[in-house]
Amino acid sequence: MNRVRTVCIVGAGFSGTMLAAQLLREAPVGALRIVLVTRPTPTTQQGRQSGALARGLAYGTDSPDHLLNVPAARMSAWPAQPDDFVRFLHDQGAAFAHATDPLLDARFVPRHWYGRYLRHILDTTRLAHPDIGFEIRAGNVVDLRTVAGQTSALNVVFDDGDALQADAVALAVGNFAPAHPASLPPALTHHPRYVRDPWDADALARVDLNQPILLLGTGLTMYDVVLSLLRRAASAPSKGDPTLLAISRRGLLPQPHRVHTATPHFADIRDLGTPTARGYLRALRTRIADAAASGLDWRDVLAAIRPATPALWRALPDAERARFLRHLKPYWESHRHRAAPEIAQAIDAARGRGGLRIERASLVDVAALADGSGLSVHTRARGGTLTTARRFGTLINCTGPSARLEAEPLLAELATRGVISADTMRLGLALEDDYRPSSSLPVLFYVGPLLRARHWEATAVPELREHVARCALEILNSIGAS
Ligand SMILES: Cc1cc2nc3c(=O)[nH]c(=O)nc-3n(C[C@H](O)[C@H](O)[C@H](O)COP(=O)(O)OP(=O)(O)OC[C@H]3O[C@@H](n4cnc5c(N)ncnc54)[C@H](O)[C@@H]3O)c2cc1C
Repeated sequence: MNRVRTVCIVGAGFSGTMLAAQLLREAPVGALRIVLVTRPTPTTQQGRQSGALARGLAYGTDSPDHLLNVPAARMSAWPAQPDDFVRFLHDQGAAFAHATDPLLDARFVPRHWYGRYLRHILDTTRLAHPDIGFEIRAGNVVDLRTVAGQTSALNVVFDDGDALQADAVALAVGNFAPAHPASLPPALTHHPRYVRDPWDADALARVDLNQPILLLGTGLTMYDVVLSLLRRAASAPSKGDPTLLAISRRGLLPQPHRVHTATPHFADIRDLGTPTARGYLRALRTRIADAAASGLDWRDVLAAIRPATPALWRALPDAERARFLRHLKPYWESHRHRAAPEIAQAIDAARGRGGLRIERASLVDVAALADGSGLSVHTRARGGTLTTARRFGTLINCTGPSARLEAEPLLAELATRGVISADTMRLGLALEDDYRPSSSLPVLFYVGPLLRARHWEATAVPELREHVARCALEILNSIGAS
């Protein structure tokens, strides 16, 4: 009988959890032992911290205000069972307020329900495949080492010094806290008036709501943070909304999703003409104008190019990708990464009450006040030359997940040794279509948002679930267990 092979998955967010589930389903009987590594992140007073099993960063929140930004009908974790998430929600009965809602397909459900769904998948798939070894290991992986010079096995090294030998290792280490902006002095990193990780519920709970708060970034992360602060303010005997100022260079906000009606049928768009940033923009504008003339919405056009986005991205020469990132990315992001309608309304209401203001400005300088009471902040308005000096109680970094390999110590270590590398645009990891980030280590795989470097559109569930399924097959092939 063939030896049982060990596959170690580092990280148990969406990607790691679903990779384990796919391997459980696809592996031949008795062929595999799967070890799923999850970081030991306890539930704190303020809620679950990111990193919890089957939750990861995106679904680690317990806040009812943090909604999925994709409608339920498109959030199945299994590529071949598109209605799986909606069915799970239906099955929750009275526990889920909208279980019998005829428009459930179109709803933007609280993200914690998605974490429960992933946990349900993991538990039920394990039970259905008792002949595949499965272990959950709490730990923080800090290094990978070859075993006695071979490249067909790896030692997975934990921060307590322990190690585990595996025939294949999949890195599913996910999203990282925002990068520390270059305009902020390094000394501020651990300052109590600066929140570096906006998904750290305890840090948000300590923010002083009685002083003005500066939010750096105006995307979906800022929306999450604003809603958390407003909820805290509403439950405290304070004087209404906190004073919030959100800045970004262009001041662009995420566009809202439509309040859902049935999505009209719109044929996929595969071609946007000349592969230049300008050429794509021009072609997209024409398509949007044509769609509008036939009563359709720009959102339908964006949905129609989604399947072809990786091919369109790969067709762009490096200089054109750089041009796209420099000039068009903020517009792409605000139209592509949209907010649930309820969230957009809550943000509009906060702006209407005057508590939340948005400015087109960049950060010039930040200094901690000597008495510890706050921060002195200089900003410069877009297109202006003068700086404005203001005082804030707290600065919260809402610039969104970092894709820098240095942000995760394990990746930083592997990159320093030349085992893996960032892509030329520093959007994620350099890798090929077989999910192998290292030519020297053929048993090492990666799946998760850093695939963006290769595919551009690769960070949300509708794309990641496909990558996870394909990565599982590559792993099984590589260890001769397909
Ligand atoms: C706030 C937020 C909201 C989002 N909302 C949506 C949404 O509504 N719909 C959608 O489709 N997409 C959404 N996304 C996109 C998201 O990228 C994917 O949906 C998906 O959650 C990515 O999962 P992941 O497992 O790759 O990463 P993560 O969820 O980041 O999970 C990675 C896990 O690996 C662990 N880990 C990292 N390093 C180590 C190590 N060295 N040792 C051990 N463990 C480690 C981390 O602790 C974490 O638990 C959202 C993203 C964010 C950041």
